[in-house]
Amino acid sequence: MPLNIDLHCHSTASDGTLTPTELVRAACEADVSVLALTDHDTTAGLAEAHKAATLCGLQLINGTELSVRWQKRTLHIVGLGIDPADPSLTKGLEAQRKIREQRALEIASRLEKQGLENVMAKAGRLAGGSQMTRTHFARLLVDEGHCKDMKQAFRRYLGTGKPAHVTAHWVEMEEGINWIRQSGGVAVLAHPHLYNMSAAWRQRMFAAFSEAGGEAAEVCCGGSNAQVIETIGREVRGVGLMGSVGSDFHQPEQRWIRLGRLAPLPTGIPAIWNHERLTEKFRTAGAI
Ligand code: MN
Ligand code: MN
Ligand code: MN
Repeated sequence: MPLNIDLHCHSTASDGTLTPTELVRAACEADVSVLALTDHDTTAGLAEAHKAATLCGLQLINGTELSVRWQKRTLHIVGLGIDPADPSLTKGLEAQRKIREQRALEIASRLEKQGLENVMAKAGRLAGGSQMTRTHFARLLVDEGHCKDMKQAFRRYLGTGKPAHVTAHWVEMEEGINWIRQSGGVAVLAHPHLYNMSAAWRQRMFAAFSEAGGEAAEVCCGGSNAQVIETIGREVRGVGLMGSVGSDFHQPEQRWIRLGRLAPLPTGIPAIWNHERLTEKFRTAGAI
């Protein structure tokens, strides 16, 4: 039986549209045996997800996806196997939440200059009381008919250099990795093909990430084609990181990204399910 492992997805605790319970149920229905819930800069969905996971017999790994700064760029780092009660992690996530709030206010004011009204209130409703991410602003732009889809919302308003783009001063990469490690987790560089970098820059990023204590990178992501997997796989193998797999699932409406059923890791890359701090869950699930 092929492995059905998904180590990156989102719930309503950040910018996903399924509650943690609905998400875990959807993963069970998709025959995922090990799932990591990795909401943006929060662990708020984990307790509920664990309850649902116990009921349907799925192994759930504690996770989060940190936004970090590196070389004036924003990178995403998934922490797997973290302890959500760890003081240095909780303190760090609290600081990230404040940065996100500040950025949301600034994005809202810029969108209002573009002619939208009551942006904070409306985006807040879309976020359902959870912290506001750029995804929520993108959904608002689509809902109000300013853009035809989320991609266009980023291309026209929210992306780098666009009128509602705001640079957020996230934690530096090294410190973010430290929070993950101090809380017992493994730091995984998320979707390395999505940073709009040349191969030379990616090389530098992988080296700096590894140097700072990062241990793995996502090689097989939701929507990655064979060419991307081959390229990233070769780079990850070259720098000696372990490989991870994750869909980055946010909502069922994005039909091209499903939970689980990711491509197998290319040969020669040590799989993250063999990491000593994580492997127990995968064994228990019979996933390896
Ligand atoms: Mn997201
Ligand atoms: Mn991400
Ligand atoms: Mn994500």
